[in-house]
Amino acid sequence: MSSYLTSFIHYVSETNPHQPEFLQAVREVAEDVIPYLEAHAPELVRQRLLERMIEPERTISFRVVWQDDSNAIHVNRGYRVQMNSALGPYKGGLRFSPTVNLSILKFLAFEQTFKNSLTGLPLGSAKGGADFNPKGKSDNEIMRFCQSFMAELCRHVGSETDVPAGDIGVGEREIGYMFGQYKRLQNNFTGVLTGKGTAWSGSFMRPEATGFGLLYFVERMLYETGGVLKGKTVAISGAGNVAYYAALKAIALGAKVITVSNSEGTIYDKNGFSLEKLDYVNSLNRNFGEYPKRYDAEYHPGQKPWRFACDIALPCATQNELDEHDAGMLLENGCICIAEGANMPCTEQAVKTILKSGILYAPGKAANAGGVAVSGLEMSQNRIGQQWTAEKVENRLKKIMHDIHDTCVHYGKDKHGAINYLKGANIGGFVKVAAAMKAQGL
Ligand code: GLU
Repeated sequence: MSSYLTSFIHYVSETNPHQPEFLQAVREVAEDVIPYLEAHAPELVRQRLLERMIEPERTISFRVVWQDDSNAIHVNRGYRVQMNSALGPYKGGLRFSPTVNLSILKFLAFEQTFKNSLTGLPLGSAKGGADFNPKGKSDNEIMRFCQSFMAELCRHVGSETDVPAGDIGVGEREIGYMFGQYKRLQNNFTGVLTGKGTAWSGSFMRPEATGFGLLYFVERMLYETGGVLKGKTVAISGAGNVAYYAALKAIALGAKVITVSNSEGTIYDKNGFSLEKLDYVNSLNRNFGEYPKRYDAEYHPGQKPWRFACDIALPCATQNELDEHDAGMLLENGCICIAEGANMPCTEQAVKTILKSGILYAPGKAANAGGVAVSGLEMSQNRIGQQWTAEKVENRLKKIMHDIHDTCVHYGKDKHGAINYLKGANIGGFVKVAAAMKAQGL
């Protein structure tokens, strides 16, 4: 480890105490970017580009007060971390989950800087949300929470300033309630949020984008190494938007999907899921134990999907869901590719184990960039007042994912031809933002 890398990591830990997820994300980037800078761009070290990039341009924290259906009053904390605006307006999702805190949002906003840069679109980076638990809340409670949240957030966002979207706990319904509130308060129908319904200026393919994009990326990785997706067995974690559309696309491309999961357990269907089966999973409202009553399958309470043999593993649930032990089991069972649909789902030790094994590994900042990419396309459509067909959006998504893949290969291939996609994504994402920051001055 170079002395600059050691002192940089020390500096980040000292200046960001009690933020383990943020430190994890920064370390993962610094370990690739600093050696690159030292070898290729020492002037960027002197410009303190990485030190500047880890400090959010602005962090907003605010009170969200709302009333439940029994008129009890609740107080939550809302946030928006506006990380970097070198490439365009701040852009990134909103997460509603009791696990939300500043460390999680700073790690997500930091990842977003690299991810958004990799899309090639003019997008800055941000992340936000609230420590609100949407589980078990009525529709009216969700609406009141979203309205209260946007009553404060509206003064910090705008279609050319900061454009939030969804993330865990925030889907089209929540975007609708927040959009309605913004419009009411600002008297302005504008593209301030993405992930809107297609009837009210949203983009076709936005719900599908992250999951579909992930599979386009995986297809390309396999192709690069002479393989194909058809006939492969795929284990997926999660059962939300990303997992659902990743499963659909994997099936459409001829693979067999054998697992989906939630925080309580995993459904293992050795015959493979179909569209009908996945829709049944959705209808179960988290009661996955019901699934084997209808289909020839197993439900494993308290278990993750990584113990089942598969060729390809797609963690699509949440951060740090796949640890070193899980990585070991996947490798032992012959897994050849791990691609992240969620943000940072593999722990630091898991990533080290996977990289050491030499199998294909795609970090979320590259492989799950399809969601924000189609958000960028939604912004373009809103600016020109048009709506493109699903086919046009999907073609652009596919091209963007292929370009991201090629950027990773460009910066991640060593002289023996081995590709480190994590290194490629870190350096490929960094160089563009760094150049823009340098050009825009201190
Ligand atoms: N939350 C998604 C992500 O992690 C999408 C963000 C967006 O569309 O702005 O990239």
